[in-house]
Formats: sequence, C-alpha cells, structure tokens
Amino acid sequence: MAEEVKSLNFIEHIIEEDLRNGFEKNNLRFRFPPEPNGYLHIGHASSICLNFGLGLDYQAPVNLRFDDTNPEKEEREFVEAIKRDVEWLGFEWDKECYASDYFQQLYDWAVELIKQGKAYVDSQDAASIAEQKGTPTRPGTNSPFRDRSVDENLDLFERMKNGEFQAGAHVLRAKIDMGHQNMLMRDPIMYRIMHKEHHRTGSDWCIYPMYDWTHGESDYLEQVSHSFCTLEFAMHRELYDWFLDQVYDPNKVRPKQREFARRNLSHTVVSKRKLLRLVQEGVVEAWDDPRMPTISGLRRRGYTPESIRNFANTIGIAKRENLIDVSLLEFCAREHLNKITPRVMGVLDPLKVVITNYPEGQTEQLQAENNPEEEELTFREVPFSRELYIEREDFREEANRKFFRLKLGGEVRLKNAYIIKAENVVKDDNGKILEVHCTYDPLSKSGSGTPESTRKVKGTLHWVSAAHAVKAEVRLYDRLFSVAEPEEDKEKDFMEFINPDSLEITTAYVEPSLAEAKPGDRYQFQRLGYFCADKSSTADQLVFNKTVGLRDSWAKIENKK
Ligand code: ATP
Ligand code: MG
Repeated sequence: MAEEVKSLNFIEHIIEEDLRNGFEKNNLRFRFPPEPNGYLHIGHASSICLNFGLGLDYQAPVNLRFDDTNPEKEEREFVEAIKRDVEWLGFEWDKECYASDYFQQLYDWAVELIKQGKAYVDSQDAASIAEQKGTPTRPGTNSPFRDRSVDENLDLFERMKNGEFQAGAHVLRAKIDMGHQNMLMRDPIMYRIMHKEHHRTGSDWCIYPMYDWTHGESDYLEQVSHSFCTLEFAMHRELYDWFLDQVYDPNKVRPKQREFARRNLSHTVVSKRKLLRLVQEGVVEAWDDPRMPTISGLRRRGYTPESIRNFANTIGIAKRENLIDVSLLEFCAREHLNKITPRVMGVLDPLKVVITNYPEGQTEQLQAENNPEEEELTFREVPFSRELYIEREDFREEANRKFFRLKLGGEVRLKNAYIIKAENVVKDDNGKILEVHCTYDPLSKSGSGTPESTRKVKGTLHWVSAAHAVKAEVRLYDRLFSVAEPEEDKEKDFMEFINPDSLEITTAYVEPSLAEAKPGDRYQFQRLGYFCADKSSTADQLVFNKTVGLRDSWAKIENKK
C-alpha cells in the first residue's frame, strides 16, 4: 500500500482502485521503457521516479525495458548511458528487457493475425497510404491490397522477412477499419522493411515492428500490470487494447495503459531529438555537457540524485502539460547541497591584498569549520599569510554606507581569520588596481577568545593565501536558452534562442585543501555557490563546474527587467 500519510496522485488512485476491485497485489509490475536514441533527460527523471517510486511503494518489480525497434537511431552507447543514469538516480530494476528480444514472438503473432484475416501486406508507397488515411472528419479509403488472400499475405510477409524486397516496397498493416473515428485505428502499420543492422539482433531482421505493435505486446510478455506513458499516447490506447485483444489469455495479467502529462522545464528543451542537435551542431560539448538538461549533464554539473528525486516528487505528476521553472530544480539542488557540502574558499576574480603589518615570510594555519550543518562539527586548516587574494568586486576605493565589503578606511573580517582595514591602493598606469594595502588587528583572530575576536564588523569576506592557493579552472554557466520556452514559437527554430554566453571560463585561486578534489566532489565555495570537480579535473589541473549559486540571483535579475 502507498503510505497513508501522503495524498495519492491520480495514478496511485488507479492502482488502489484496481486493488480494491480484486487485482492481486502480487501481480503489480511496472516498467520504464526508454528508447535508446539519446541520453535521458530531466523529463525522463519524472517518469523514472514515478515508475520506480510505485515499485518501492507497492514492493512491486519494475522492469527497465529498452524500446529498441528502430535500428536507424539507436545505439549501444545510449543503452549504457541509460542504465548508468537510472542506477545513479538510485533505482534498481528487476529485469533488463529489450523489445528486440520479442522480435520472434511478435513475428509469430503477426503471422497468426494474417491467418485470421486481421493483417495484410500493403504494397503501396508511403504517400499513397498517407493519402488514403483520410482526416479526422473524413473517413479513409481502403487500400487496393486490403483484400489480398491469406496465402498471398503469408508469402509476401515471409519474403519481406527474408530480405527479398527493398525498403518501402511493402508494409504489414493491421486490418481494422479505415472509417474508424480514431485515425490511429485506420489499418495501422505493424511492420516496415529496413535493411539496417540492429545493435542486438545484428542482421537477423530486415523487417522491424512499429512502436504501437511492440509496446503493448512487450508489456504483456513481461506481465506488466500498469503501463504509464505520456499524454501523447492517449489516442494510442485504443490501438494498444486492440493489439492486446489479439493475443490476450484471460488467465494472465492484462496490462493497462494510462497517461500522465509530459514535464517541461523552462529555459531548455527536453526532447532527445533536439538535444541530439545541440550535440551534433557543437552547441554543447557532449550529451553530458553541464548545461544540458540530461541526467548525465546534471550529474557532471554537481546535482545530486537526491535533489533530482526531490524535484520529481515535488512537481509530482499531472494530467495536463505545464512548464516547470528551472529555478525549482535549482532550489532542490541548493537545499541538498547545503546539507552535504564542505565549505571552502576560492576566489574567482582575484585582487591582491598585502597586509603590511603582518610579518614577511610568516604563515599560520587557521581553523576553519567544514560545514555548520554537520551534527559533529569538523574542521580543517587554512593557511594565512601576508599576501592574500580577495574577490575584485569585494573592494572599492569609495563606496556608500550600504557597501558592506572592503573600502579605503573601512574594515572587514576575513572569514576564519582576522579583521583587516584597507589603507591604500597600488595602481598600474591605466588606473587598474593591482594591490590593496591593509593592516590587520592581531588580536582579532576568529576563535581566539579575545574580545576583539568577536568584534562585529559589517562585512565578512572569503580569501585565499596567495602563496598557498592553487590555481583552478572554473566554469560558470548561464541558461542554455535565453527565453523560457524556446519551443513555443512554432515559426522559429528553437536553436535561434540559444544563449551565446552560457559558458564562461575563468582561472580561480582556491584554498590548498582543494588540491585533493576528485572528479565528482562537491563543495560550497563560500559566498559564491556550489561547485563540483569536473570529470576532467586532476591534481595538476583542477577544473570545477559551478552547479548553482547560493541564492536565486537569476530571479532577481529577471524581476529588475
Ligand atoms: P523524447 O522526445 O525525449 O525522445 P520520448 O517520450 O520519445 O521522449 P522515450 O525514451 O520513449 O522518450 O521515453 C521513455 C519514457 O519516459 C516514456 O514512458 C515517456 O513517456 C517518458 N517521458 C519522456 N519524456 C518525458 C517528459 N518530458 N516528462 C515525463 N515523462 C517523459
Ligand atoms: Mg520517443
């Protein structure tokens, strides 16, 4: 049973009702059925969390089924990536299934349908077939091949399978009703000829089954009880049921298709086909580019599986399509990263600070708290010395009273360290500030117990010791698209809305403890945001991706416009 405490969504209501009507709880089985024609994206995460979440709630098995019926677009790389992503999200599938494993069974059933006069070989070209389809208000017309004899159909279908014909020469169609009010029921195509190697069946087949013919029968073969898909398949349900009727044994579980709304995310696209274009046209580096809304992109960017699951559960499932603001996803990331990431210091745009009254050549190790959210606080050492870097934007020669950072004559606390006062600046010939000369208050060391150590000053800055800091490449990301709904304007190609400034690369100075960072390690760079060591990061060349800022700075900018 689903937890009593949480309110059920409409999908859970459907299951509960089936159970009340006598459906055996032990017969519950779900599946997640990706087509391996690209990497999974955040929309898929919703479907994964729905199906695997139901599996957990009802202690029912969930299959991972690859819907691999189109060898033209499918690759092994995608199968591997999909498995990795589902696992990373924290889910365990029961069986790993492939629609291609059912090719023989599907073929045998198709032969049965031909024998029963329920399927026929059509030898017209695609255009003629399309023309005869009719319109929603005008019935279709029968194909001149519709009344072929069973024997002729069997012969042609077998020869299609044996590779005797060119692609497009024939198709196998279900014989339903060309006047049906649901256009999908007007003699839908079941098989087409394709002389293509399949990633699993090689060159065994040169006819491939269509989605509608495959999907329901695969659900049935796996004895999936509830087959949840997105709304665009609502009209297909009738055909799903018709195909099931042809093979259904009443002693077995009859799968039930139900639909929920596709999830769309603002400022991006969630369609494998479109994401593939971004990869192929070099807009992004790869499928796992941290700007991509793919699971692998989000992982590389520093998102946690928990935050993605939390996002999916927060938005839940719906009956109508709507757009989810990407800032909600970022909120979920921040919320989890705040709990788990160590706080560290890094300076993205360095300005040198010289503490003129600090002894030359001296270094001291200061205690820095790793994470105030930890139950048992732990600390690390951060070196302090006479020359430091602070963030260039944290200093101004002159500023009004609202500027709580460093200005000439003003004081700030350096995080975990001392209070300093800016005395004067050194500039180059163009007036660019090269150094800020400061004095420090030796009694003000954080945690030293002196009255000065707790003296309140308005601002606290992050910093690194210039001599000890480690250089790191830092990649800062902005939205990949400059509008919320790049697909909305049907007249325009979504590619026209790509934000040309979605990636900025800088060289930062980070505290020496970060030299240990391993790919995938996540941190909070204090006052800057959350960062994650990139997969390319090494001790010799550290590389960090900015996951998300500390606050929703983007919403603020939007509101100002
Ligand atoms: P795409 O257009 O990205 O290829 P798809 O629906 O064709 O999407 P599939 O691999 O067929 O991709 O999808 C696997 C499952 O994930 C299906 O059940 C599908 O309905 C679901 N799914 C795909 N995209 C979304 C989305 N944006 N929101 C919720 N579920 C989705
Ligand atoms: Mg698809």
